[in-house]
Amino acid sequence: MTRILLVGHGRMGTLVEQLAPEYDCEVGALVTSAQGSKGIADLTEVIDVAIDFTAPSAVAANLRALAARGINVAIGTTGWLDDEPALRAVAGRYGIGVMAASNFSIGLHVFRAAVARAAGRFAAQQDVGAWIHEAHHSAKKDAPSGTALTLKQAMEDAGYGRAIDVSSTRAGSIPGTHTVGFDGRSETVTLTHTVRDRAVFARGALEVARWLVGRRGWFTMDDYMKELR
Ligand code: NAD
Repeated sequence: MTRILLVGHGRMGTLVEQLAPEYDCEVGALVTSAQGSKGIADLTEVIDVAIDFTAPSAVAANLRALAARGINVAIGTTGWLDDEPALRAVAGRYGIGVMAASNFSIGLHVFRAAVARAAGRFAAQQDVGAWIHEAHHSAKKDAPSGTALTLKQAMEDAGYGRAIDVSSTRAGSIPGTHTVGFDGRSETVTLTHTVRDRAVFARGALEVARWLVGRRGWFTMDDYMKELR
């Protein structure tokens, strides 16, 4: 049984808590915004790994507190990329394991590989323009989504060097849709990944958290996906 420290008890944290038993995990302790990173410093429970689903502004302090306690963490929170270099250094100094993933859906990572493949194929066709559109519920704070930025990077890494138009919609309860389009003179290719249920992220977080127990270093979903093959 893996003992999880749940940092953040909002929509995602609540789902992780509900689904934990299906993944042979139990929530050993919970830190809410009322406690903040002090709640991590004051922990008395034995914890195997933490899952952070909080807010962009909370991630840096949480990670510092977790590192000081030697607790590995799967960070699902998005919108804190500017802090990443500093936080990598903190994690390295304390020798903890960190999985930072803007999207814990396994299907999304398969989708990203398909998008990169297509971008590489279209790279040399100068008349083809590309775009990314993402749509999420109105409560999502960051825009564009971390996943949209990751998709853009994957397209560029695959050799697509022209501008990629990125746009966002925030409305209603949309769990998360990403569409990548390639538009030529007489044809359009669109690839879409749609989340029907936010539980997919909680399930991925639990799987990844179990994988992270006992590891040291800074990991991405690519590291996890490689081992799934
Ligand atoms: P939410 O607003 O429902 O919940 C966030 C919770 O964190 C709130 O209850 C808030 O009070 C709490 N919180 C804020 N600061 C805190 C702190 N310092 N310590 C403890 N708790 C704190 O949001 P959500 O829908 O659960 O999403 C949370 C984050 O996860 C967002 O950044 C969102 O973009 C991201 N997200 C990532 C994935 C993924 O797959 N990686 C999937 C969905 C959402």
